[in-house]
Amino acid sequence: MKKTLLLSGIEVANHFYNSVPDRLKLLSNKNIQPGLAVILIGDNPASKIYVRKKNEKFKQLGIFAETFKLPEKTQQTELLELIDSLNNDSRFTGILLQLPLPKHLNSDDLLNKIDPKKDVDGFHPENMGLLFSGNPRYIPCTPKGIIKILEYYNIITEQLHSVVIGRSNIVGKPIASLLSSRSEKGNSTVTICHSRTPNLSYFTQQADILIAAIGIPKKIKANMVKKSSIIIDVGINRDKNGKIVGDVDIDSVIDKVGAITPVPGGVGPMTIAMLVENTIESAEKIL
Ligand code: NAD
Repeated sequence: MKKTLLLSGIEVANHFYNSVPDRLKLLSNKNIQPGLAVILIGDNPASKIYVRKKNEKFKQLGIFAETFKLPEKTQQTELLELIDSLNNDSRFTGILLQLPLPKHLNSDDLLNKIDPKKDVDGFHPENMGLLFSGNPRYIPCTPKGIIKILEYYNIITEQLHSVVIGRSNIVGKPIASLLSSRSEKGNSTVTICHSRTPNLSYFTQQADILIAAIGIPKKIKANMVKKSSIIIDVGINRDKNGKIVGDVDIDSVIDKVGAITPVPGGVGPMTIAMLVENTIESAEKIL
């Protein structure tokens, strides 16, 4: 019996990290250092873990990163001033505002304030517009990581039907745009499903590539997937026992599908790797 291929984000990320020292050297030869400013507001436990992991990776690679940690009750004007000062601070080639924000803050206005040239998350409307018009400046880290996984494992998306579940600006919309774009890494026929899609299984059963970015633990079961399909599980959820699980019930689908990204160890490591890549790119754009 053919074994299901596990698409390891750790392996793809390590492959990318091997290229980092050469890129940093090229920059330092020109006296340019990449630097990332991370703004973290409040005590969201998941955000704190993500920021800690990002910092560890940057430190390990010798890339300058500084976290601006602010209390939960920080006001919008104070943040706008901080972003303004970071926009003008040449130590930082990239700026990241860790989402989600406390409810009293307006994330759109804050994201709009980030200099689009330093917007390494790619969430500024100018960068979203560039992405959707097929000429991206920064590709958001998670969708970019998914494309890199597909590339690394030689999965040709052209002629395949991709079904994306989720329509967020962070994952669903950009990955649907990338997969359908007129490019070697795209050319896929894409269907987008979301919380108001009736009969989700009808669509998922037709997916050659299924991208699950829902946020519901183990939502996708074997009866919802096509035989031999490729499953990209973006979800990071905790099950009833506090264990990290994806949006796909891997135990249920594993014998039916052709390939799948595990959780953890799939898309997650690529998101951090692509933040590193976008930060390096933010410095390379100065060259
Ligand atoms: P989100 O809450 O913004 O979007 C979830 C989407 O799922 C929505 O568009 C919604 O319409 C859709 N949805 C909700 N319930 C549904 C249902 N019953 N049927 C079909 N669609 C449904 O979340 P997001 O930021 O896009 O993140 C999605 C998941 O991916 C979360 O688990 C998040 O933690 C994870 N995530 C992981 C990474 C990573 O690095 N691996 C990065 C970002 C997000």
